[in-house]
Amino acid sequence: MKPATLRRAAPWAALALLALLPPLGAPPYWITLANYIGVSALVALGLVLLTGQAGLTSFGQSAFVGIGAYATAWLATTQGSGPLVTLLASLALATASALLLGLITVRLQGHYLPLCTIAWCLSLFYLFGNVEALGKFDGITNIPPLRLGPWALERGDEIFYVIWGAVALAVIALRQLLDSRPGRVIRALKKGALMEESCGIDTAAYKLLAFVIAAQLAGVAGWLYAYLQRAVNPTPFGLGYGIEYLFMAVVGGLTQVWGALVGAALLTLVKDGLQRVLSLLLGQTGNFEVIVFGMAMILLLQRAPEGLWGRVAQRIGRLPVPVPASNEAPLGLQPQPPQGRRLLELRAVRKTFGGLVAVNDIGFAVDAGEIVGLIGPNGAGKSTLFNLVSGVLPLTSGEVQFMGQPATGLASRQLARRRLGRTFQHVRLVPDMSVLDNVMIGAHLRGHRGVLASVLGLNGREEAALRREAARQLQRVGLGHALDMDAGALALGQQRTLEIARALCLDPVLLLLDEPAAGLRRHEKQALAALLAQLRSEGLAVLLVEHDMEFVMGLVDRLVVMDFGTLIAQGPPAQVRHDPRVLAAYLGVDDEVPLG
Ligand code: ADP
Ligand code: MG
Repeated sequence: MKPATLRRAAPWAALALLALLPPLGAPPYWITLANYIGVSALVALGLVLLTGQAGLTSFGQSAFVGIGAYATAWLATTQGSGPLVTLLASLALATASALLLGLITVRLQGHYLPLCTIAWCLSLFYLFGNVEALGKFDGITNIPPLRLGPWALERGDEIFYVIWGAVALAVIALRQLLDSRPGRVIRALKKGALMEESCGIDTAAYKLLAFVIAAQLAGVAGWLYAYLQRAVNPTPFGLGYGIEYLFMAVVGGLTQVWGALVGAALLTLVKDGLQRVLSLLLGQTGNFEVIVFGMAMILLLQRAPEGLWGRVAQRIGRLPVPVPASNEAPLGLQPQPPQGRRLLELRAVRKTFGGLVAVNDIGFAVDAGEIVGLIGPNGAGKSTLFNLVSGVLPLTSGEVQFMGQPATGLASRQLARRRLGRTFQHVRLVPDMSVLDNVMIGAHLRGHRGVLASVLGLNGREEAALRREAARQLQRVGLGHALDMDAGALALGQQRTLEIARALCLDPVLLLLDEPAAGLRRHEKQALAALLAQLRSEGLAVLLVEHDMEFVMGLVDRLVVMDFGTLIAQGPPAQVRHDPRVLAAYLGVDDEVPLG
């Protein structure tokens, strides 16, 4: 085996060794610690997805653990419910409360979600502590052991296998998920919603999905906790524990699936060790470990912000994913509209920012099979106009028609579904994801496999097709050699080209390109011009903003010139370059020829 393969197998080998602990006669105390580590690891795994991948912070995962644990405790003690019923109830309650909380908060940006999870955790803690039926602050005791068929798992070394089996399953499921169509969307969420919405993706729904999955993992942890401890009270579901789960994920490496296990193990063991050492040293108990713990955490985060397993993972690197060869036609390509058909029409489109009129009653049209250049000095309003057309910004007034239908007020993702593709002036990609994965996000609408199919590995065929399509588009734009590179390692000009490949994966009828040639070298610009001409011959329409006049003049069919938000000229390049208003706008004088 190659060293890289060995290193990749190492975590599984460690898990297998762990499984040998009970038969090798490890002391019960070790088993107990291992059990608590496993339960915590499940919660931390949820945070790897939610915080590490989706970029949403929750301090309140302990509340979902509490929901699972209390549901199990109450059902098992008062209703005599078996483990299947309590498991389903834990999952259902965790899901329902995450949906509720998520719908209220996940749409909100910034600090609202973290703050809401804190509030949620605090209030649930007091709810648990004050409800008569839940035993108030004394909690619920005498929970019967976990029964699997004829076996009652009473001892720690018996439930051990259930706990670690659940952890192993969660690791597998999460890794499958992260490498799938929905997983890629979740991994890109932390870079902001704009890019994904432009690929037709409902990012709010995926944020909610990540939140629900994380809550479900915490709910299962709670279910296990109830059977492990055989008693519940509000304390372990309070805010302090919520913060600790987040610490575990961070220490292990927030973006790393294995990091959750490393972090859970380290924190549990260190906390336990500190408790004992400090109570010996100080001769009294008083949660002194929290102080040392906090200091250690600050040091660690300063030294290794990527987390412990993050460090290791950097060394291991990423396995290149092969692109399967096939003669199959690309995923459901749709026919292009006939040459000359009106695709985009703007009527008196206006955008004001406070007192500033960034786009001033602009009107023009783009037809299938033509390349229109949108030019104008810096600050003329070109990017703003792009954002209006692509549904990123709402219009102040005016009207947009796309494909013969009113499109004013449509969201970016709705326009993407009608086959409008775009790139951004300021590149928007996921730097630590491969070039290929980045471009596959563009093909999202052309697949349909969801979470369940991905977790169960039923998405292989579709994944292969998506990968093939992304590779095809990357080859087309001249990045065929870079599929497995980190997107962030590309030169800036190539990152722009990656965005074109991503937009092409949408199978668009109209492409909006905001300064696609910026940062490209001369021969790369020529290749880009050739590609755009090729796309035009296939019936695509392109609207592009570009400053390089040589590039624009030789390529476009028509120019639209803006200055201070106003359309000052439009027509064929040869005509526009002599327009006195255009000359004045570019140079402030009208006796020289600046263009071309
Ligand atoms: P261009 O792309 O032609 O260089 P922009 O569309 O980026 O120009 O900007 C047009 C004008 O609108 C500029 O004066 C810019 O400062 C202003 N502007 C753009 N976006 C915003 C915004 N979100 N808020 C306020 N002003 C903005
Ligand atoms: Mg701009």
